[in-house]
Amino acid sequence: MSNISGASSGSSSAHRGRIVGVPRVCWCGAQIVAKLSKSETNPYRRYFRCVYAASNKLMDDNHIFKWVDEALLNEVDSLTSKAERLEQMVKENEIVFDGAEYEKIVYEKVLMEVEKEVFERVETVLMEAKASVKKMMILPIIGCMLIVGFMKLI
Ligand SMILES: [Zn+2]
Repeated sequence: MSNISGASSGSSSAHRGRIVGVPRVCWCGAQIVAKLSKSETNPYRRYFRCVYAASNKLMDDNHIFKWVDEALLNEVDSLTSKAERLEQMVKENEIVFDGAEYEKIVYEKVLMEVEKEVFERVETVLMEAKASVKKMMILPIIGCMLIVGFMKLI
């Protein structure tokens, strides 16, 4: 996803790439600091700057420079669109899972779990039955299986 167009104008010299929102780290790997502008054109305006470039007092370089107010504006914009996307997803899910459709999914899931449990029990009982001849124990289990099978037909 790239959103290069539609960004606010008014930055100074050309920078490598364009950062959307608040920069976390410069491309050179250095941390970002918030500093206060002392220029005549932008007095007391805060900006983000690459630590390396700032400590070396670099000028017209490719290291990150971004006005704090512009960065925050970007951040708010991206958060707003993110929230709108989430809202849209929730709405779409409501359509898919509403009412009867949702109940059917839950019902099928429960049924599958019950069935699995019954089969597991039958297996254990059958093993026991083979060892000792207690065939009577199998009957209630078969009864359970019949009920589950019958429920599936509904
Ligand atoms: Zn840098």
